[in-house]
Amino acid sequence: MPLTSPNTALVARFIDIVGAPNAVVRPDEQAPYLTEWRGLWFGKTPVVLRPGSTSEVSRILALANAEHIAIVPQGGNTGLVGGQIPSSAGNEIVVCLSRLNAVRSVDADGGTLIVEAGVTLTAAQAAADNVGRLFPLSLASEGSCQIGGVLATNAGGLAVLAYGNARNLALGLEVVTANGEIWNGLRGLKKDNTGYDLRDLFIGSEGTLGVITAAVLKTFPKPAEQATALVALETPTLALELFRLIEGSAGQALTAFELWSGLAQSFVVEYMPGTRHPFAERHAWYVLIEISSGESGGRAAQLLQDALEVASQAGAISDAVIAQSIQQARDLWKLREGLSEAQKPAGASIKHDISVPVARIPEFLERAAPIVAAVCVGARPVPFGHFGDGNLHYNISQPEGMARAGFLALWEPMAQAVHSLVADMNGSISAEHGIGQLKRGALQKFKSDLELRMMRGIKQALDPHGILNPGKVL
Ligand code: FAD
Repeated sequence: MPLTSPNTALVARFIDIVGAPNAVVRPDEQAPYLTEWRGLWFGKTPVVLRPGSTSEVSRILALANAEHIAIVPQGGNTGLVGGQIPSSAGNEIVVCLSRLNAVRSVDADGGTLIVEAGVTLTAAQAAADNVGRLFPLSLASEGSCQIGGVLATNAGGLAVLAYGNARNLALGLEVVTANGEIWNGLRGLKKDNTGYDLRDLFIGSEGTLGVITAAVLKTFPKPAEQATALVALETPTLALELFRLIEGSAGQALTAFELWSGLAQSFVVEYMPGTRHPFAERHAWYVLIEISSGESGGRAAQLLQDALEVASQAGAISDAVIAQSIQQARDLWKLREGLSEAQKPAGASIKHDISVPVARIPEFLERAAPIVAAVCVGARPVPFGHFGDGNLHYNISQPEGMARAGFLALWEPMAQAVHSLVADMNGSISAEHGIGQLKRGALQKFKSDLELRMMRGIKQALDPHGILNPGKVL
C-alpha cells in the first residue's frame, strides 16, 4: 500500500498523542521547522509533533505505520543535506525530538553519560564537563544540533582526528522502530560481539531506519593542557609536510589539524565581526593546529613549538603564531568556526563535503581547480576542512557580479564534475554531512549496484512500508 496523506481526523489522532500545546499547526509557527538554515529547502506539513517521551514517539510511529503516513524525524534542523525537511507535497509529519532533552545519567567512573535525543551537543559537552570529563565531539553548530541528529548523521567535526566521529563516541542507543517498538540498546559496553551491530546500522541512517530517542555516550579524561597555533603556508603540499611532521612528533596528542584557503580567510575577516587577519601579510593557505596533553607543565606548548621550529627550518611554513592564552586560542578557533557562516554574505555557494586519502589532498586541490573553472568561469573555490581526516568542504562561491540563481543552476553539473574527480581518487562524496535529499541522485551514481541493493534490503527489512523519511538517502 502506498503512503497516504493524513486527513483532518487522523491529524487529530496524532495531536492527541502529544497534546495540543506540543503540536504546531499554524503556518507561521511551523516555518522554523520547514526551512533549511541556508534557505535551500522549504517543506510543508500538516503538523509538527513535539513528543515529550520515548513512549509518545512509539505511539506516533505505531499509528503512522498502521496508516501508512510518512514521518520526518528532526533534531536541531542544522543538517546540511536537507534530510530533516519534509517534502513540499505537504503530507509528511515532522517529529521534532527537542523536548526529549533530559540527561538521564552521568557516570564519571565508567566514562559514560546517557542523554536523550533532544539534548544539544553543547548540553552533552556540559554534562560531561560538570563531572570533570570531556565529551569531545565539536561542531560549529553545537549550540543547536542535537544528539539524535548528530548520531543520525554520524557527524564528524573538529576533533575526529583524535577521538573519531559520532559513531566512535556512542556505546549504545535507544531507538523506536518503524512499527513503534522500542529497542533498548542502551548498553555501555566497549565490547559486544553478539551478532549484527544494530547500533551501527542506525548511526548515520539519517532517520530512514528508526528514530533515535536516547544514547550512551563515551567520555574521556580532560586534557590538562592544550596548545593552539595558526600557521601560514603557501601550498597544500607544504601543509601535508607539516601534518606528517607534527603527527610524527605529537602522535595521539595531535587533536586538530584544520586547513583553509586564503580566500576563505578573507571572507571571515570581511564578514565576521570581531575577527582580523592574524599576520601582517596575506598567505595562500592557513592551518590551525591543536595539541593536547594529559600532563601539565608545558608539554603541549613545547611539542608544538619544537615541531614548528623544525617546519620553519625546513622552509615549510611562512609564518606562525602560538596562542599565549585561552582567549587567544579562542580567537584562532573563531576564524575556523566562522568559515561556513562567512561564505553566506559572499554570495551563493555550491557545497561539496568530500574525502580522499590525506596524502592526496594536494593532488585533489590541484586537479579540482580547472574542473571548476570549466563548469563556471570565475567561480571561486573556498576550500576548508579537516585536513587530518582527509575531509574538505570544497565549497565554491559564485563569480563576483554573477546572478545568484544563475550560479545555483549550475549545482548539478558542478557537483557531477567534482564528484567524478573524487570517485576517480577513490574518495567519498559525503565525508560527514550525509546524503539527505541533496545527494540522493549522486548516491545512485557513485555507489555500486551491490551496495545499493544491500542498503535497500536493510531499509525494506526495518521499514517495510517506507514511512521513515521517504525520499531521503535512497
Ligand atoms: P537535523 O538537521 O535536525 O537532522 C539531520 C538528519 O538526522 C535528518 O535526516 C533527520 O531526519 C535525522 N534525525 C534528526 N534527529 C533524529 C533522531 N532523533 N532519530 C533519527 N533521525 C534523526 N556536520 C558535521 O558532520 N561536521 C561539521 O563540522 C559540521 N559543521 C556544521 C556547521 C554548521 C554551521 C552547520 C549549520 C552544520 C554543520 N554540520 C556539521 C551539519 C550538522 O550540524 C550536523 O549534521 C548535525 O549532526 C545535525 O544535527 P541536528 O540535530 O541539527 O539534525
